[in-house]
Order: sequence, then C-alpha cells, then structure tokens
Amino acid sequence: MVKFMYTNVTKRKLHSHSCDKGMSHGLPILPHTQILVLNNSYEPINITNWKRAIVLLLKEKAQALSNRVIRLVNYIRIPFVKISSQAPSRALIYKRDNNKCQYCGATRSLTIDHVIPRCRGGQDTWENLVVACSSCNVKKGSKLLENINMKLARKPFAPYNRVQFVLANTEVPEWQEFLFV
Ligand SMILES: [Zn+2]
Repeated sequence: MVKFMYTNVTKRKLHSHSCDKGMSHGLPILPHTQILVLNNSYEPINITNWKRAIVLLLKEKAQALSNRVIRLVNYIRIPFVKISSQAPSRALIYKRDNNKCQYCGATRSLTIDHVIPRCRGGQDTWENLVVACSSCNVKKGSKLLENINMKLARKPFAPYNRVQFVLANTEVPEWQEFLFV
C-alpha cells in the first residue's frame, strides 16, 4: 500500500492592509537634496530636485532605489548629444577632472597632461588627457607611468552624457556606483 504523505504547505499570508508605498513611514528619498534619476536601463539621465522626484514616485513613474536615487518605470528615449564622440576640449577635461591634478590632487597651476606622451604616440583623446599641476607635469615629463612612481587618481574616461560629469566628482556614495553603467 502506498501511503500518501501530506506535507505542510506554507500558505502565504496576504497582507490585509493595502500597500501604502511607504509614504506614511517617511519619505522614500532624502528631502532637500538632489536626486539622481536613472532610466529604466539604470543609465543615469538626470539630476533633479527632491520635490520633482517625489512627484515621479507618487505618479508611479519611478521607483526609489535608495534615498538619493530613483529609477524610471518605463524606458525613455533621450536624444543625448554623446559627449564621448566629441573631441575633448580643454574645458571639458578640466570639468571631468573637477579642476584637480589627477596625480597629486592640487587645484592650482593646472595644465593638461598626456598620460602617454605625444612623443611616444599618445593621442588627444579622453582616455589620454588628464588635468595635472605643472609640477607633476614636469616631474612626469615624457616618461610612462609604469616607469615612474606616479599614479592617476582614476582611469581617464570619455563621459557619455553631462550627468557623468557630476557623477565623476560626486561625494554621494549612492551615485558613484552608477558612473560607469
Ligand atoms: Zn600634481
């Protein structure tokens, strides 16, 4: 005889109260701050004020990922002017590097350095140009980084859109992880 074993099926208890989006437990985002807006694809597309962010959340057009980041529910197409496909101007390199020497952090006597020197075939590209103070620039000269005791604060990159300039230099930890999405 085969005995049928009955196992205890755990029934999921339904919540009797309606889902309240957390609004009554306090705001899902940090008030009086700037909020990063991600597209549905997680690509950063805008930085907005907290009140606009609340409106997007209330209209259910966005969800809060953290108290400083929201993500759009639907993907929206934005005709971005792709910054990375433009030739880097001095002003944009300064902006990306937040007017700081990428070797020592100095903010005065700034110049533009070719990471791979021009005499060694280094190009005028986003990935090869960094802000450097004049003393670091002189110290580095036409040497390659691997041969000297100098390090870049971070790898130079081509910003995809203008939001990346902000993310590149933000001190908001929740924003930093979306720099290279
Ligand atoms: Zn320096």
